[in-house]
Amino acid sequence: MSIENIKEKIRDVKDFPQKGIIFRDLTTVFKDKDCLHALSEELTKLYKEKGITKVVGIESRGFIMGPIIANNLGAGFVTLRKPGKLPAETWSESYEKEYGTDTIEIHKDALNSEDIIVLHDDLLATGGTMLAAYKLVKRFNPKKVYVNFIVELEFLKGRDVFPPEVEIEALIKY
Ligand code: 5GP
Repeated sequence: MSIENIKEKIRDVKDFPQKGIIFRDLTTVFKDKDCLHALSEELTKLYKEKGITKVVGIESRGFIMGPIIANNLGAGFVTLRKPGKLPAETWSESYEKEYGTDTIEIHKDALNSEDIIVLHDDLLATGGTMLAAYKLVKRFNPKKVYVNFIVELEFLKGRDVFPPEVEIEALIKY
């Protein structure tokens, strides 16, 4: 199955979560066993020879493929969560959304300076969420951080919010 075949399975939902937005719904990709397998293979392929030690997934849609990629790569999986969900000591990062601010958190012992990391989320829109995640992960001074999405909404130019040296991969573009 090609990446184009996977793209065809994405469901467009009009006016969700609000009027004027077309939501790219990936649940229709995940529920198809051949699509899920192909997606897992394609995402894993991007990082095969890079010595990845940890995949970091963003709550909540980054928790679907994140652990699958981690397992395929022989790496560990780390969760970046909404405030108050992680039980031990955390670091947090806040970022501006269209309406108000959001915060994400990570356990203080989740990563270390020896790690080579893939940061994963399902979709890149404005980039605000992933940039906050990137800043959090960089606090650990890891050897390398790769940024990964299944889908990129190119017209929103989310890529441009990252420092130019950051290696960003997205399988499917709109
Ligand atoms: P950003 O911070 O880049 O503006 O928004 C990206 C975040 O919002 C991601 O965590 C993603 O899950 C969610 N998101 C925004 N729009 C969509 C969409 O059309 N489809 C999906 N699946 N997620 C979206």
